[in-house]
Order: sequence, then C-alpha cells, then structure tokens
Amino acid sequence: MRKEYDYLIVGSGLFGAVFAEQMKGAGKKCLVVEKREHVGGNVYCEDIAGIQVHKYGAHIMHTSNKTVWEYVNSFVEFNRYTNSPLACYKGELYNLPFNMNTFKQLWGVMTPSEAKAKLEEQRGIYAEIEPANLEEQALKLCGEDIYFRFIKGYTEKQWGREATKLPSFIIKRVPFRFIYDNNYFNDIYQGIPIGGFNPLIDKLLQEVEVRLKTDYLQHRNELDRLANKILFTGCVDEFFDCCLGRLEYRSLRFEHEHLQTDNYQGNAVINYTEREVPYTRIVEHKHFDFGTQRTTVISREYPDDYSPGKEPYYPVNDEVNMKLLAQYKQLAAQQLSVLFGGRLAQYAYMDMDDTIELALNLAEKELIHC
Ligand code: FAD
Ligand code: UDP
Repeated sequence: MRKEYDYLIVGSGLFGAVFAEQMKGAGKKCLVVEKREHVGGNVYCEDIAGIQVHKYGAHIMHTSNKTVWEYVNSFVEFNRYTNSPLACYKGELYNLPFNMNTFKQLWGVMTPSEAKAKLEEQRGIYAEIEPANLEEQALKLCGEDIYFRFIKGYTEKQWGREATKLPSFIIKRVPFRFIYDNNYFNDIYQGIPIGGFNPLIDKLLQEVEVRLKTDYLQHRNELDRLANKILFTGCVDEFFDCCLGRLEYRSLRFEHEHLQTDNYQGNAVINYTEREVPYTRIVEHKHFDFGTQRTTVISREYPDDYSPGKEPYYPVNDEVNMKLLAQYKQLAAQQLSVLFGGRLAQYAYMDMDDTIELALNLAEKELIHC
C-alpha cells in the first residue's frame, strides 16, 4: 500500500538535506524530521548581532571534488576565506600548518634546506624506535620541539587521555610544508558560503516538508507508518536501542561570548596548544566572513567527555568501538526499508565534502532502483 511520503528523512544535517534535495528533484515526496529546533545539523549558524556564529564548531568548506564544489555553488556563493589558524603556546604565536613560517619562528631558519636539516636532527634521535603509542609515533615523525609545543597538550586535551595512553594510529602522518604558505588545507577549492551555511541548507530544503523538535526515536511507530522508506542520519546504535551496547564519542562544549570590541584576536582561529589552558581553540566568527560589525563574538572550544544528552562530535574509532560498529552494521543491513547515512549513522568522521558526495551517491543509487 502506498504511504503518504516516499521518504522519511531523519535528521536535517547536510546528509539529510542533500538527499532530500535530490529526491525532491526526482519528484519524490519527502518528510524531514529534526529533533533540534533548527535545520542544518552541525553546520547551523546562529545570527548574533549580524555575525554568523558557527554554533557547533567552526566549519570551512574545502574540497578537491569538482562535482561537490559545483553542486554547492549552484545554490550559494562562497567567499574567499582561507583557513590559516595560529597556534598559541605559552604566550607565543606560531603559524599553522607546519610550514616555513613556523620553522622560522621555531628555529630561526630561513631556507627549506635549513628547515629540513633541523627537522632531521630533531627526528634522528627517535628514528629507530617502534612506536607503541601516540607520543612515540609523534616524536618519530616530528621530534621534540614540534611535538611538545604543538601536539602533546592539544591532543591530550582533545582526547582526554595521556598521549602515552593513546594508540599510535591516531597520528599517521604530520604534514610539513617547505614553503611560506599558511593555508591549512591542500584542497583546490575552499571557502564559506556568503552569509553562513544556513542559506545553503534552506535552499536544499526548499519546498520540502520539515518537522522540527521531532525526535524520530520517540515517535517511531507513527512516523514509520507515514513513509515507504526511511533515511536515518542519527546515531546507528540508538536506532537499535543500543541493544548491543553504546558506541563511544568525544564531545565538545562551546562558551560563546559577545564582546563590545570590533576585533578580539585578529584571526578566525587560534589554537591553544598547551595542556594548562583548558580550551583547545578560540574562534572569532566575524573573520570567517571578513565582518566589519562594531562588536564581535568569540567561542572557546572545550573538549568534553560524552554521555547521552550531550552532542556526539567525534567517534572514537578504536578497536572496541569498531567491532561494535561492525555488529550494528550487520543489523542495519537487515533493515530493507531503512537507509543509513551521514557521520552519526556511519560512525565516521567525515568532512562536509565527503558527506555531500556520499549523500549524492546514495540518492543516485536509490533512484536507479526505484
Ligand atoms: P549532522 O550535521 O550531525 O546532522 C545530523 C542531524 O540529525 C542533526 O541535526 C541531529 O539533530 C539530527 N538527528 C539525530 N538523531 C535524530 C533523531 N533521533 N530524530 C531526529 N533528528 C535526529 N567538515 C568540513 O568539511 N570542514 C570543517 O571545517 C568541519 N569542521 C567540523 C568541526 C567539528 C567540531 C565537527 C564535529 C565536524 C566538522 N566537520 C567539518 C564535519 C561536518 O560537520 C560533517 O561532515 C557534516 O556536518 C555531517 O553532516 P550529517 O548530516 O551527517 O550530520
Ligand atoms: N592537532 C594538534 N595541534 C593542533 C591542531 C591539531 O596536535 O594545533 C592534532 C590533534 O590531535 C587533533 C588533530 O590534529 O585531534 C586534528 O585536528 P584538526 O584541527 O586538523 O581537526 P579537527 O579537530 O578540527 O577535526
């Protein structure tokens, strides 16, 4: 029997919104349910005094995927923002990512060959060790100066554990750039939608019915009856009532502050890399948009332990959790009328371009089959 909607889409983040847009374009009737009081998931921006505040963490679009870039640009115009965070360690500022500017600030070296020689000298002491944990891995990759100033404190805060107790696979490589270039990303395309991410989400969801403040898991029986198929973009373990156990996350806590000054730190992102400073970074949102407002909004970002009720930000992709995930994936495969997608349902850290690409692919696959 045909139901009222072709698709019930749980979650209005980028994954759900892109899927909805594609399905709408193919003439399918969709209903989006979102438990928050706004659409957009983690890319949502809140307008405070005319400044677009990235409420769930700073988001910068960067990609080398031309299809994805052209897709998002067909809805909104992007500005020329280039991410160039600074690192603050014990009151000194350094450029990121590690490039000739950083090496000059650290060691006073001017040329790439001097920088390479210094780095080799630093790494040499650890060349022979077989890394058993993150600390050893990082020392082997970059030596003491970089590790102790920029990596140890930040990483320990982020993961809430000593670097010697973290698995080495977290740091597979540390990118070094031997040119004077502070662009954090290597991708071809980069920017932020003019006016923030909300216009993008609004355009994707134009003419799609959305019910806010509706938690699918609390209204499951009635919602399931409404649609032929479901796309679920929430936490995969919660879909199955955590019957096999809970997947672990790291969370974040943001302290937003509206200040009566026009320019607080002169850069959008400053990382605080020493352990003693409790937050990992301060974001000054107006600089994402070259804002000229008279006031400013900053956000201090504190890593936090996750417990149900908090936002699940980073999956903990260690062995225990990946085993549990594999079991949930088996359960998911048995759900013939439910699709699972997005960072929470896939329990994977995915940048926005990956999220969009996967949503486009899933929609295409669906449309071939129906
Ligand atoms: P989400 O945005 O989380 O959307 C899922 C939605 O589902 C949410 O709105 C949630 O409320 C809703 N939902 C969940 N369960 C239910 C339920 N039971 N009922 C109803 N609704 C439900 N990527 C980049 O490319 N560049 C960046 O700079 C960048 N910065 C990031 C910074 C941080 C701190 C984090 C955590 C991620 C960052 N990302 C970045 C990644 C980016 O956020 C993701 O790729 C993208 O937002 C994922 O979209 P999604 O739809 O899968 O998930
Ligand atoms: N990192 C670090 N020092 C920094 C920035 C990052 O040691 O100043 C490490 C840290 O382990 C972190 C990882 O690099 O978890 C990824 O950080 P990035 O800011 O690139 O990504 P995000 O945390 O925003 O996903």
